[in-house]
Amino acid sequence: MIIVMEKNVNQELIEQVTIKLGERHFQVHLSQGVERTIIGAVGNRTQEDLDLFETLAGVERVVPIVQPFKLASREFKQETVIKVKGCQLGGGTLTVIAGPCAVEGMEKYLEVARLVKASGAAMLRGGAFKPRTSPYSFQGMELEGLKILAEASRQTGLPVVTEVMDPRHMEMVALYADILQVGARNMQNYFLLRELGKIGKPVMLKRGPAATIEEWIMAAEYIISSGNPEVIMCERGIRSFETYTRNTLDLSAVPIIKHLTHLPVVVDPSHGTGKWRLVEPMSLAAVGAGCDGLMIEVHQNPTEAWSDGPQSLTPDRFQALMNNLGQMTAALGKKLEGGDKANG
Ligand code: PEP
Ligand code: MN
Repeated sequence: MIIVMEKNVNQELIEQVTIKLGERHFQVHLSQGVERTIIGAVGNRTQEDLDLFETLAGVERVVPIVQPFKLASREFKQETVIKVKGCQLGGGTLTVIAGPCAVEGMEKYLEVARLVKASGAAMLRGGAFKPRTSPYSFQGMELEGLKILAEASRQTGLPVVTEVMDPRHMEMVALYADILQVGARNMQNYFLLRELGKIGKPVMLKRGPAATIEEWIMAAEYIISSGNPEVIMCERGIRSFETYTRNTLDLSAVPIIKHLTHLPVVVDPSHGTGKWRLVEPMSLAAVGAGCDGLMIEVHQNPTEAWSDGPQSLTPDRFQALMNNLGQMTAALGKKLEGGDKANG
């Protein structure tokens, strides 16, 4: 249940409510807004609890949540806005995250980072740990890759997003990255999700290739209930009978997640389609559907890329996409995040 406190209620009354919740074995999650405090109480709730908490001093109302997800739900919070290194994700802007599938070396990475920044990307991406279908494929540069990402972030001033695959690497990845990505294949790795609840950095949670919307939100609920409220949802396509595209990009997920949760939504049309030609039209469609961000794979020379070349844009094509996104966001009255840093 959600306990909505009266406007500008004092701290003492909030404490009284949380103590009572503790006595009744509820897990307490506070959301303190400018005027109002909302208390998320997760546990086995009875009608008696609803009645009791409504009578406590300072409580305006008690709202039962019937959905299985509580802390991710819109009842609990209006909107989550992520802020890293002066860059915002969520809250009405469009944030473009760009870079190669994998980090392939210092010089190559720094070059592509400068190029995507010049085109208006607000954040950088690049895998140092790669979840590959074949154990014989390139698995990522690991620690060396993380150091390259951190150096690119230092030189460009842009935050970096990178994947963490194993809880044993979490502290190390968090040392170098600004946002930790959970890859699609790990969406239901509950041990990893719980560990990410303890890290003080935002987590971008990619949708599993066969996950329903509810399973995906429940995975976010694992991270939030473990202590980390900064979760970003990333739609990257799901498995269907269609084989023309690598995955089927489910853009209906965007307004659904925005309706059901308070979390920002990023769309990844690169993995979502597997084809560079489809990246621009699906990016524009994703913005039309109301996403908060896009994650786009860009490589200087896609035919030579160590992974995912066929879905990677060249820097020129990325620039053309950014121009169109500029026009689209302007038409929608949205701010394109980071565009002002492009020439900085
Ligand atoms: C990625 O973004 O680097 C990636 C591997 O994507 P996904 O987990 O969606 O397949
Ligand atoms: Mn990739």
